[in-house]
Amino acid sequence: MNSPKVVRIIVLLIVLSIVGGVLKIYGSIVGGSKSVFVDAATSIANTIAILMILKFFKEGMEPPDKDHHYGHHRLAIGGSISMLMLYSFVAGVVTVDLINSLGKAYKVGYESPIYASIAIVPYGLAVLIAKRSYSIVSSYGGFTAIELIESIVSILSSFGGAAISYIIDFSGAIVLTGYLFYELVENLRQVVIAISDVAPKDVIDRIIRVAEDFGVDVERIRVRRIIENIYHGDIVIKIEPGIPIEEAHSVADTIEKELRKQGIDVVVHVEPSKES
Ligand SMILES: [Zn+2]
Repeated sequence: MNSPKVVRIIVLLIVLSIVGGVLKIYGSIVGGSKSVFVDAATSIANTIAILMILKFFKEGMEPPDKDHHYGHHRLAIGGSISMLMLYSFVAGVVTVDLINSLGKAYKVGYESPIYASIAIVPYGLAVLIAKRSYSIVSSYGGFTAIELIESIVSILSSFGGAAISYIIDFSGAIVLTGYLFYELVENLRQVVIAISDVAPKDVIDRIIRVAEDFGVDVERIRVRRIIENIYHGDIVIKIEPGIPIEEAHSVADTIEKELRKQGIDVVVHVEPSKES
């Protein structure tokens, strides 16, 4: 991961998110649309979320120290967890608001669909940038994609609310809230997978290939993803009995170094093969 580049991308996303959020908040206050309100509330969460992602990403880049021997990589997951918290909070606020206004007629102004329409531009750009970026940022892209979908739903329903009946606007707000809950469940699943010590098949294959390149067989592999493309683990390799310890150590050392270059930080344990 190229840290200054990621930070620059995140700063750009923050600016886009603030611009989009301000437009939506203004549209929901002036026009009185409930669907644009749901939209605006999630956009506030969106902006705070990207700030949290930046904070945890920077902390995660810190090198190993006395209390974190393996480095601080997993602190970056704090960004995803903050995002879940913020959107859950918004889901609660919005649900209470919708329950309270159930069955009460209200007026929707055309300002709501107009400002929600303009907000599509900055959010559209943010989604495009985030989706093409590193996975820490692309999970943010998932939530920002809600902002886009929300913009479209809230434009249509608030327009219907202004032109025909508030019920159309209210229905739009319910649909948006339902989708927010769905995304929360999806993202919780992804965070749980991210911390589940998964051992991807292609990483196992890569370890075996590197060992074979140095002419040794691998007896056992334990590897787990720490974050993104960083892995930790230990492997046991077989070396012919009778080979001097210096030579065996040198092979183990070379394999460790080669794997470390690929982001795989493993301890190599040497055992004599038992064929004799
Ligand atoms: Zn530390």
